[in-house]
Amino acid sequence: MSDPLIITIDGPAGAGKSTVAQKLAARLGLTYVDSGATYRAAALKVLEAGIDPHDEPAVVRLVSQTNVRVESNGGEPRVLIDGVDVTARLRTPEVTLAAALVSRLPEVRAKLIQIQRTFAQGRGVVMEGRDIGTVVFPHAQLKIFLKADVEERARRRLKQDSHDGREATLEKTAYEIGRRDQLDAERKISPLTPAADAIEIDSTHLQADQVVGQILDLIKKKGWAEFA
Ligand code: C5P
Repeated sequence: MSDPLIITIDGPAGAGKSTVAQKLAARLGLTYVDSGATYRAAALKVLEAGIDPHDEPAVVRLVSQTNVRVESNGGEPRVLIDGVDVTARLRTPEVTLAAALVSRLPEVRAKLIQIQRTFAQGRGVVMEGRDIGTVVFPHAQLKIFLKADVEERARRRLKQDSHDGREATLEKTAYEIGRRDQLDAERKISPLTPAADAIEIDSTHLQADQVVGQILDLIKKKGWAEFA
């Protein structure tokens, strides 16, 4: 295998993509990339500029003038908007919803996809998102589509939120996840859907380590010598 290895992990919110992708990347010595952070950064810029995320022309204009960068020099990846580190501000419910709105716009996606592709230049990556296997890297060597029941995804998200100091109820979290699923699955461009050659894993009853184990088994079966 001469090209750097690209592993894509797509799926709906709360299916466990981040944990699995990070563990897998660490295990294989690849770079972990969270593509959702680029959409969140664009959304934060829109909100902080006082623009309504539904105002499509204004969003497109602003994002086209915005510099989004992700730096991952070994440690926790940092997201920069016009040179300012905004990593700590990307996980609020407002940014989460606005990201799902601005990500529906083709101009926004085109710009951020270019940035996402630069990560795989000359190095292997595990990249998580919604359209990584279908659009960003259609020729990736291994594509995983990770799914889980909405109730289980809501439970996991709630646990994460309370760990991060945010308060919510299971009902509200399930509603928000359902709303985001709908926005992501029904958008006209790059909707959330498994690539034809993706391997689907249902994580409803699995721990992250078990999912990672299944992916490592798939890699072993492919016989990629450097990871055997
Ligand atoms: O993965 P995360 O929850 O951080 O993504 C936030 C939002 O960004 C998603 O709800 C989705 O609308 C958008 N997104 C996307 N394509 C990706 C990654 C994220 O449209 N590859």
